[in-house]
Amino acid sequence: MTPGTALPVDSHQQLRIRRLLMSVAMYVLSAVPQGVSLYNGISPAWVMYTWAAYAVVFNLGFYLAIRSNFSLRFRDPSMTMAQMVAAIILVLFTQLYAGEARGAYLVVLVIIMVFGCFKLHTRQLLILSLLTILAYALTMPLVREIEGERFNLAVEVILWCSFSAFLPFISILGGSISDLRKKLMASNAQLQEVLQQVTELATHDELTGVYNRRYLLEMLGHEKNRTDRGGGGFCVCLFDLDHFKRVNDNYGHAAGDTVLKTFAATIEPLLRSTDFLARYGGEEFLLFLPQTSLEMAQHCIKRIQEALAGTRFEGLPPDFRVTASIGVAQYYLQEGIPGLIERSDKALYRAKQNGRNRMELAPFTRPILI
Ligand code: GH3
Ligand code: MG
Ligand code: MG
Repeated sequence: MTPGTALPVDSHQQLRIRRLLMSVAMYVLSAVPQGVSLYNGISPAWVMYTWAAYAVVFNLGFYLAIRSNFSLRFRDPSMTMAQMVAAIILVLFTQLYAGEARGAYLVVLVIIMVFGCFKLHTRQLLILSLLTILAYALTMPLVREIEGERFNLAVEVILWCSFSAFLPFISILGGSISDLRKKLMASNAQLQEVLQQVTELATHDELTGVYNRRYLLEMLGHEKNRTDRGGGGFCVCLFDLDHFKRVNDNYGHAAGDTVLKTFAATIEPLLRSTDFLARYGGEEFLLFLPQTSLEMAQHCIKRIQEALAGTRFEGLPPDFRVTASIGVAQYYLQEGIPGLIERSDKALYRAKQNGRNRMELAPFTRPILI
């Protein structure tokens, strides 16, 4: 991604190509007055050919530089300034032979400045416009040379003066649009970042980083609807850490927090990308296993218990271990989610009763799917 924007590199390059094609369209359109000028003998044929060759070579060069991603090594991968300078040079050249139609070319210079408002700052646009005004003034002796007798100094000075008044103004206006655009893009990126943070907060538990209860219940609701319409079955496993109060009492609340975080971090890597682990309450976690049979869920829990038996906790004695009691329930067709969780809670209660550090399965008497 390019910093400050939401588009991937490829989309940015496509946008740059589109902008280049816009300016190519301008070249194509300006072929019409060039043709008329040639047809009426105002400018010589070689000027038209030079104009066309220059336009093709430069635009093809810019196109290939963007298309091949070569332009990405520049600070401005759109090469806006280079495109503008190339266009200005071409206009300054063709206006030399434009005779009385010279004024039309000055309008093109103004349009080129507007093109710059996609990327350039006011200062850059102003410098470019002042250089263009100067370059235009420097072409005047050449025009005098080419036009000979027909050269009318007063008309040329009027053209130059009005052009010199216009261009900086357009540059300031274009620069303001460009700055506004940049500010909008920056605030857009900021908004997206905030949105990401808000989404993270709304769906995740702050302490452990796993999903929160609300999000998990939402996901369970979706899975229930899918299963009722004929999808595969699923299981929920309610974990409650054993004697957790003792952890807080013996090692402090911060150590208790570390245990909760490490517990979640131990389980997460053992899950499939489709499984959901959520913090259901203080030291209770709910594991939701979509597309999972009771047998598969039991295997998953065994893997978790084995991992927990080998997990060490930072800041706690090396032989400190945590265990959990687990109630596992498989979804019945048409069963409500609260009912399903209640069954897993009852199974968890039995696990506590039967000595802790174990899992108990919720009995089922109604048909299940898998
Ligand atoms: P049992 O084996 O029966 O589950 O015993 P237990 O001690 O785990 O159960 P109990 O419900 O008595 O205690 C749960 C404790 O979890 C009490 C509470 O202070 C602690 N706890 C809940 N949330 C947090 C938390 O965010 N951080 C810490 N450090 N402790 C928490
Ligand atoms: Mg509890
Ligand atoms: Mg407990």
